[in-house]
Amino acid sequence: CGIVGAVSTRNIVPILVQGLQRLEYRGYDSCGVAVHDGGLKRARSTARVAELISQVESEHLEGTTGIAHTRWATHGAPAVHNAHPHFSHGPGADAAKGPGRVALVHNGIIENHDELRAALKAKGYHFASQTDTEVICHLVDSLYDGDLFNAVKEAVQQLHGAYAIAVFCKDEPHRVVGARAGSPLVLGVGADGENFLASDAMALAGVTDQIVYIEEGDVVDLQLGRYWICDRNGREVKREVKTVRAHS
Ligand code: GLU
Repeated sequence: CGIVGAVSTRNIVPILVQGLQRLEYRGYDSCGVAVHDGGLKRARSTARVAELISQVESEHLEGTTGIAHTRWATHGAPAVHNAHPHFSHGPGADAAKGPGRVALVHNGIIENHDELRAALKAKGYHFASQTDTEVICHLVDSLYDGDLFNAVKEAVQQLHGAYAIAVFCKDEPHRVVGARAGSPLVLGVGADGENFLASDAMALAGVTDQIVYIEEGDVVDLQLGRYWICDRNGREVKREVKTVRAHS
């Protein structure tokens, strides 16, 4: 169970999957990665991260913005269709016709997923997995009005349970938004304007040692060369940047 996310100007797939390898020690039953390459693309596997790496290489999965995940299933069997990243399927959209606009990974458990799923189904959202996580993905989509940071801030207000999430949107190619409550998440400030998210600073070893620990209830907005953090009341906050030397 781990998360890695990145906003960059170079292909970040190698950093994302190496980050997952550094988080393998936590245990997992499946893994996946999604990137922005003009649209949304992903690869998911119920095998080891090494298998996911062969898959992304053979499919030439590349992008400058992306998120990756190792899953420890709590809701829905360990299976490719339940593996993260999840994609939103907006009202009326046919899952078979391809992805919607929001891609999301999550560690933790959403306790009110049944109630949220029922409300989203009533709005026409199609569910492709049995996970609690997919509910967050569609919820963010349903609140999206051109600003992913705002949509995530509103979405997390409706979540009961534990979460660390990383999200990006097809309509905003250079942006990843993260949030946490009850599950860990750090921001890594890289060189050349790159910004990263990870559930553990160790996942970013060799990439950056400039780490901001995201606090309980925070929502963080990553763009090229800048980031913002809001607390659970929606107020902008400054968090200390620490030098963390993670050993690989
Ligand atoms: N509850 C989510 C699921 O079962 C996330 C599990 C995790 O933390 O990896 O898909």
